[in-house]
Amino acid sequence: MTIEKLLIANRGEIALRIHRAAHEMGIKTVAVHSTADVDAMHVRLADEAVCIGPPAAKDSYLNIPAIISAAEISNADAIHPGYGFLSENARFAEIVEEHKIAFVGPKPEHIRTMGDKVQAKKTAGALGMPLVPGSDGAIDDVGEAKRIAKDIGYPVIIKAASGGGGRGMKVVNSESELESQMQQAGTEAKAAFGDATVYLEKYLGNPRHIEFQVFGDGNGNAIHLGERDCSLQRRHQKVLEEAPSPVISSEERMRMGGIVSKAMADMGYRGAGTIEFLWEDGQFYFIEMNTRIQVEHPVTEMITGFDLVREQIRVAEGKGLSVTQDVLEFRGHAIECRINAEDPRTFAPSPGPVNYYHPPGGMHVRVDSGLYAGYRVPPYYDSMIAKLIVYGRTRESCMMRMRRALEEMVVDGIKTNIPLHQELLRAPDVIDGNYSIKWLEDWLAEKAGG
Ligand code: ADP
Repeated sequence: MTIEKLLIANRGEIALRIHRAAHEMGIKTVAVHSTADVDAMHVRLADEAVCIGPPAAKDSYLNIPAIISAAEISNADAIHPGYGFLSENARFAEIVEEHKIAFVGPKPEHIRTMGDKVQAKKTAGALGMPLVPGSDGAIDDVGEAKRIAKDIGYPVIIKAASGGGGRGMKVVNSESELESQMQQAGTEAKAAFGDATVYLEKYLGNPRHIEFQVFGDGNGNAIHLGERDCSLQRRHQKVLEEAPSPVISSEERMRMGGIVSKAMADMGYRGAGTIEFLWEDGQFYFIEMNTRIQVEHPVTEMITGFDLVREQIRVAEGKGLSVTQDVLEFRGHAIECRINAEDPRTFAPSPGPVNYYHPPGGMHVRVDSGLYAGYRVPPYYDSMIAKLIVYGRTRESCMMRMRRALEEMVVDGIKTNIPLHQELLRAPDVIDGNYSIKWLEDWLAEKAGG
């Protein structure tokens, strides 16, 4: 099929990113928005716009009947869900397809399988990916849990099968705590996700977060686009990402890339996906798969020259992958700083009017953002207002360019975390690439103390 009109079921920078890819392909766009987003850039730029509800996401961006109606009245033949919101809702993907609208994303059954972490881990293991040692699936028997924990060694972590956003996890240091922590984890998981199922795995002390970008055509062909290092996190939220990872050699990239792309091919996976691993002492351990485009996808685009959103749309049209693995090259280095409307010290959100805005420019500098002077950052959604992505031939030149770009960037009227990024890019460990998923929180705690 050929998509002629694409409805974008999202907001903010990713809605704009999708609009841009669509227009570059000659595809018309339909923006759907809440009453809080009437003045958003993607709404202004889209060919058509439909208001789908009040500010609260549950009444607008998560409102499936309103979104389907908007697609029907505007005659959209495809829906792109972006990230967050409905992007990993298998039922939504099914409903879209039941309405004879193309879903720009994976097959619903794959969204469902990977959305259940016990199922996802089983599937990943069966497809040959290295796993964190742990229980073989869900666990509810304390005696069995004790045996497994003893076998793999403490500390262990109890995780919710339906968990997400870093919630519902318990680290257990010794056998005496296991029973009570297991009960608590189950109760909390039931309350938060409506599912008390938990599983157990070895707790890694100081890993890095390294994820692989994959792409499948849905018919048994798949490629990988290398890795991203997203270890710099606060409360499981990524702050700065880079590609390639400072600790992965090109041989290791091709070896792991081969494993993940073969897994996706065997599965018949369709569209963009990310396979997340923890990495410690040279070993990869699968933790989960995200069946959507990621916030940090531009760093991969910068070092491969490959437009991931364009490819998503192409694959949704049933056209197959536009490249084969052998023509893909990884060149240079890219870093992304997530610019948030928040206090750089307390992290308190800082919505409100932007009086003046000056985005950085120059060679190899990319800004993905819907910001403009006079825009008012609404208080209802995620605080990320821009992504600043830069490329350099080497990691060092990339960091120099990022410092220069941050220096130029002005967002006046609200507080942003630009000063935090500037400090980060001066930290010796960051300069050396010497950090794990614990590093940022330790560094922040040290700063607050000293
Ligand atoms: P979620 O879906 O909630 O994000 P993940 O499985 O992706 O859950 O884990 C979120 C984060 O929790 C990881 O990025 C890591 O920081 C930590 N984590 C998860 N599993 C382990 C583990 N086995 N050992 C150490 N840390 C872990």
